[in-house]
Order: sequence, then C-alpha cells, then structure tokens
Amino acid sequence: MIADVAFDVPVPHPFSYRVPPGWVLAPGQRVLAPLRGAKRVGLVLALRDGGGADLKPLLQIVDASPVLSAAQLELVRWIARESLSSVGSTCAALLPPPLPDAVRRGWRGERPPRTAGGRDPRQDPRMASGRWGGRGAARLELLIGAGREERLLETIGTAGADALVLTHDVETAARWAARLGALGGVVRLDSGAREGERARGWAALARGAARLAVGTRSALLAPLPSPAIVAVVDEHDAAHKPPGAPRIHSRDVVLERAARDGCRAIFTTATPSVEMWWRAESGRVALVAGPSGPWPTVTIADTRGILRREAATPALVRAIRETLAAGQRALLVLSRFASSLACDECGAVVRCERCAIALSWSRARGTLDCRVCGGSAPAAETCRQCHGRRLSPFGWGAERVEHEVRRRFPQARVARYDPEATRGARGTAQRTAADVAEIVIGTRGALRLFGPAALGLAAFVSPDQLLRLPDFRATERAFALMWAAAERVRPDGRLIVQSQTPAHYAFAALTEQSLPLFYKHELKFRAELGYPPFRRLAIVTVRAAKGGDTPRVAEAVAAALRGSARLTVYPPAPDRRDRLRRVVVKGDGELPSLLATALEGLPASPSRSRGIIDVEVDPVEWPF
Ligand SMILES: [Zn+2]
Ligand SMILES: [Zn+2]
Repeated sequence: MIADVAFDVPVPHPFSYRVPPGWVLAPGQRVLAPLRGAKRVGLVLALRDGGGADLKPLLQIVDASPVLSAAQLELVRWIARESLSSVGSTCAALLPPPLPDAVRRGWRGERPPRTAGGRDPRQDPRMASGRWGGRGAARLELLIGAGREERLLETIGTAGADALVLTHDVETAARWAARLGALGGVVRLDSGAREGERARGWAALARGAARLAVGTRSALLAPLPSPAIVAVVDEHDAAHKPPGAPRIHSRDVVLERAARDGCRAIFTTATPSVEMWWRAESGRVALVAGPSGPWPTVTIADTRGILRREAATPALVRAIRETLAAGQRALLVLSRFASSLACDECGAVVRCERCAIALSWSRARGTLDCRVCGGSAPAAETCRQCHGRRLSPFGWGAERVEHEVRRRFPQARVARYDPEATRGARGTAQRTAADVAEIVIGTRGALRLFGPAALGLAAFVSPDQLLRLPDFRATERAFALMWAAAERVRPDGRLIVQSQTPAHYAFAALTEQSLPLFYKHELKFRAELGYPPFRRLAIVTVRAAKGGDTPRVAEAVAAALRGSARLTVYPPAPDRRDRLRRVVVKGDGELPSLLATALEGLPASPSRSRGIIDVEVDPVEWPF
C-alpha cells in the first residue's frame, strides 16, 4: 500500500510513502513520516495499491482513528482551493494538535486501538460519510437586534441538536463555554483549553460522548453529526479571518459546510458584514431581526473649522460634565491616524477618482497613492470641493485628548486604554485603573471594558479618521464600531459623534438606529465601484529574493494574471516602504481558481530564497 500524506508546508501536492505491512490505516488519520530529514506529523489523504519499494516507509500512526471523515476531507480540499492554501497547512490549522503522548509513542498499526465500548473506531457510524456527509436542506439564519445571543442560546437549548459555537477570540469562547455549560457537557476546542483537552474533546464529539462544543476558527471542522447547529458569533468581525493559512473567513466555511452536510447555520451580529446583509436581502439567508432594543440619544457634532483647536466640542464637554454629575461612566473613543488627507474647512477627503477610496498619503514621497488601482498623484494643494487651502492628515492622539480632559475635569478619575498605554509592565496597572475610571480614553479595544448599557456616555472624538482609511471597508468598520458603542450606552445616556462630515449616511443610520438605511447606501457604493459582494477581490504580494528584482517579477506576475480575460488586474503598486509590490485583482465568484490557473508555472512561495508570491483572496483588512 502507498499512502499520500499532506504536511503543514506550503506545497500543493501530497507526499507518497510506503505503508509498512500489517498496518491498518485509513484516510483522515495522522501519521509520523520522514520529510526533508525530519520526522513530521502529516495527514493521510488517500491510500492506494502498490508496492512502493522505492518509497520511504511511514514511521508511526499518531491518531488511533481518523480525525477527519471522507466528507470532512472534501471540505478541507474546498477550503484549500478557495484560499489558495495547501491541504496540509489547512489541516494543521483546523485540527487540534495530536496528543504529545501519541506522537511520542505512536499506535501500533497492527493492533487497532479500541474505544471504551470495544468497537473499532473506524466503524463508528457517526464518522461514516453517510452521517456527517448526509445532505439535508441547509437552514441559514442571521440573528440581529437585541438579545440575539440569548436567542441563540435558547435555540440550542430547545433544538436538542448537537451544537458548535464559533467565536472570534478566546475571551468570547470562554464566555460561551460557560453559557453552554448550563445546558450540559461542553468541550472547548480553542487555545483557551489545554492541548490534550482539545484532542480529547474532538474525539469525544466524534464518538458522540459530547454534544456541545465551543471554539475559534480551529474548531471549524469539529465532528458533529448532522443535523447539528453551527453558530458563528459576531459574524462581521475581521478576527474570524486570522492571519496564517488557510486565509478564509469562518462565515464562508460554515456556509459551505451547511451546503454540504445540511447543518443549521446561525450567525449572530449587531452589524452584519455587507456580504451577509446582501445574502439576507436576496433571500438566501433568513433574517431574524428580534426587537430593536433601547437606544441612546445620538448627537452628531459638527467640527468643521473648529476641531483643530480643541479635541472636545462644547456638546461633548457638556455631556461629560452631566455624565459625571449623574455618577455614570464615560468612554471617549479615538481612532488610529489615517494616512489620508482631508480638508480642514469642509471635511472633504482626497479620494481616487476611479476607485472612490481615500488616497494614501506618503509624507516621505509627497505623493497620494491609491491602494486599489495603484494610481499615484502629487499631494494636492487645495480642496477640490471648497478650494480651502488646508489639507492635512489631521487627527487626535490619545495623549493630547487625555491632557485636555484632565485639564477640564481635574477631579475626575481618568484612565487611558489603548495599545500603547496597556502594554508592558505598566499595562496591568493601567487596565486596573481603566476598570474603575470615570472617564476612559481608548481605542476600539476599550469597548470590551463595558457590558450592555454600562455607559452614561460614549463619544467618538474624530471618527472621520476611520472613514478616511484607504480601504473600501472603512465605512462598514466605522459603522460597526459606533453601533457597538451605542449598545453599551444606557437608554437614557448619550452617544456623541464629532465629525467634519456630519451628513454622512453612517451617522444618519446610527442616529435612527436603522441597519437598512446604512446597507442601502453601502450596497449602492459597492455595486457602483465593483466591490464585494458584487465582485471578489484578491491581493497578490510580490517580493523578489533580491529587492532590485521586485518590480520586474511583479510585472511578470501581473502579466500572467492579465492572461485571464475574467480578471481585472491593476498595475503593481509599491507598499509604503517600497519593499514589495501589491497587485490588486478583481474577479467573479470563480476568483480563486482563476488565480490558481493564471499563476500556475510561476515560482510559488515555498522557496523564500527565491522571493515570495503571496495571494490573499477576499481580504478583510487592507494593508496600508
Ligand atoms: Zn474643503
Ligand atoms: Zn484608484
């Protein structure tokens, strides 16, 4: 017998080994095998007849039984194709690490291990393709509005089905593990659990000994029998697509899993991704709105011409004073500096005429560059809208806002909560201070300090910085953040947004607590400019082994991509430090396979000495 084994290496094809005589082995089982002079754990993809006399033998069986069924392996292949990752890297990211013990000791192939019940695990009906792979009518639901997470919990409780809850971070996974724990035994498959615990939890799900699971994206393939509930909490969060292979959003995998195995997929979010809203609007996902819930009074404070002198408008100062007097807490949210230019007088942003996203300003080169089409222009002198002569990358930093707040409210307990302030040795003290401060000044991460309706006041000092990020998702993300802040304010509290563009539709939708209003405008913009969900995007990053060769290699890559008539290929553009080139590509639903075909024959990533050609499909955060 010959086994085809995939390893966690960026090589698209599997490696072949001889199976020692007498071994009982199945696809989906992990083995130890020699690879480039080292012993590596790999996953058996297929077994075929043949002597394989010229092949190296496998060394050890790692898993007592397959960790992936045939149907799951098919899903893995789909994920690898969609994300242009290797099957081996995909498996490594989406499986719990094998028990260290099992790797050291190995299973003797000739004596298949037995489960507690004495059955051969390979005969387990729940692992047979007929069960996990059984196709049913998929139910897809999008839960929005107040109490969405409580409604999900209730659904899981009453459905009596097996359930998997996927979260974007370990903190949220822990919260869900506690909630589901009330319904019965729950296994944790995220890195918040010890490694052995994850491997044992996975096995318990496979044999039906556990019925509820929580995890981050590494739990996407958790073996639950159909019909199960697979839920994605905070569907819109970019953290559902972490860096590292396979670069794909958990939402997309769950949608595919539901289509294949008929599981009931439930997505919860306050502000769906534009792609998800569009699916709901076109009837492919059922929108379950729930009540709209209490909402604070929203004030949009116009800062045109005044923000340069003071970080806080009179409206904000008054609101802080009233909040402190009422014994409530205030949060002032700051944003990272935008690398774009805007007019101080009228707030207009310098945008690319073709792509409509903010142009990225390079102080060093004195140029404005488009991060989509690669177009470049000398920095403008005057505002195109009002002919004002002050264009700047202006914004407020945490330190300056803290100084101003302390000066105005010397009696108040003020604490900063941003990556800079909470780092290092001082960080712990800073976090403790923020827990009890009356006024917290922080970045988006500070929202986690506050539960629903915990704040008397939330304020965005200059969210224009967010709207001006050179990313077509800038508005979607800014809107999601402001909405999340509003949910943390008491119904009798206030949300204040200071802006140079107070008439922006994102602010109108926030004020009216209206998701449809926001998505109507956002979808129109996306449709007109050919952004997702209407077209798919990819970023191809090129860096040659010798820096000087990068422009030439990037041109070769772009030329290869242009060979496909169904791809829109923009000229290669340098990053800010001019160390690599990025080629932005637009295409239809078949984008991954079109990219794979077009790039075939070009040197792939594995050999770093030969440089890097890296493809990210459906990027969620634009590299600046
Ligand atoms: Zn202007
Ligand atoms: Zn452009």
